[in-house]
Amino acid sequence: MLSVRKCYFVIKNIIIFFLISVINVLGQKKGLLMIKGHTYSEYSPNYWYCTKKKSAQCNAKARTDRHGHLIYVKNEHTHLPPAYHITNTGQYVKIS
Ligand SMILES: [Zn+2]
Repeated sequence: MLSVRKCYFVIKNIIIFFLISVINVLGQKKGLLMIKGHTYSEYSPNYWYCTKKKSAQCNAKARTDRHGHLIYVKNEHTHLPPAYHITNTGQYVKIS
């Protein structure tokens, strides 16, 4: 589990994240890293690629150390961040 800070505001049940957290998304086995609203999936231990790497040819990436701290991020994306709805049970459902 990453040690993270979480900061967000809600507009009509849509949560917009500014900082860094690990989220559980409906239909995804593994947690995603969320940085400023963009999501990253872990492709090998501690290496994270943008979840739109293929679909949007996005080269954003991040690295965490073995303690789960963020040690590198290239947060330049070719697309807008996805929007999520958060359920009562704390699960994320992608809505765009
Ligand atoms: Zn991206």
